Amino acid sequence: MIHQIREDLAPYKATLVAVSKTKPEDQIMALYNEGQRVFGENRVQELVGKYESLPKDIEWHLIGHLQKNKVKYIAPFVSMIHSIESLELAQVIDAQAAKHDRVIDILIQLKIAEEETKFGMDHEECFDIIEACQGLENIRVRGLMGMATFTDDQAQVQQEFRSLKSLFEECQSMEMKDASSFDQLSMGMSGDYKLALECGSTMVRIGSLLFGAR
Ligand SMILES: *Cc1c(COP(=O)(O)O)cnc(C)c1O
Repeated sequence: MIHQIREDLAPYKATLVAVSKTKPEDQIMALYNEGQRVFGENRVQELVGKYESLPKDIEWHLIGHLQKNKVKYIAPFVSMIHSIESLELAQVIDAQAAKHDRVIDILIQLKIAEEETKFGMDHEECFDIIEACQGLENIRVRGLMGMATFTDDQAQVQQEFRSLKSLFEECQSMEMKDASSFDQLSMGMSGDYKLALECGSTMVRIGSLLFGAR
């Protein structure tokens, strides 16, 4: 399956985040041995355990809701956090990254699905947080993340992805200290990644299609 997914991603030069949550280490190693290096997890404790026992050249992404008091456990090693839902969370990540003399890449999570969900922000909050993050030295805002509605209605999913893409472009025209590194749009999962790529995704988060159903 990974070969097919790689073929689908290649024309878009998009990044594959292999979502390994709940999956055992031997399954992660099987993909690692196929050359996959970017993996995503949504629970801090599980992420820390896997980081400790698996090869150190894996880039770990945190993709789920993150509690502020747990940031300290992943700050020493996490590559990217996709789920920034508040300025307070970004500030905590900045402070923890500073303790380890690191810069952690973050994505702002937007509400795009209709059934929404406690997490994520609206457009105004998104602009405000990007602006506020310009003053933080130990995080770098790399882009946006969103999840479409879980539905068979392709037109609706497409419309949600397009609206996230256009917000992404609006953000790109903001004044930022690292404007050239605001270049990642994380959207698309097992069921909708092809549509997401057509709508401008640069990073897809795929779990069940790679590892089987959870
Ligand atoms: C679990 C999860 C995924 C992967 O979902 P699949 O449908 O298994 O590909 C992607 N993004 C987030 C935020 C997730 O929690």
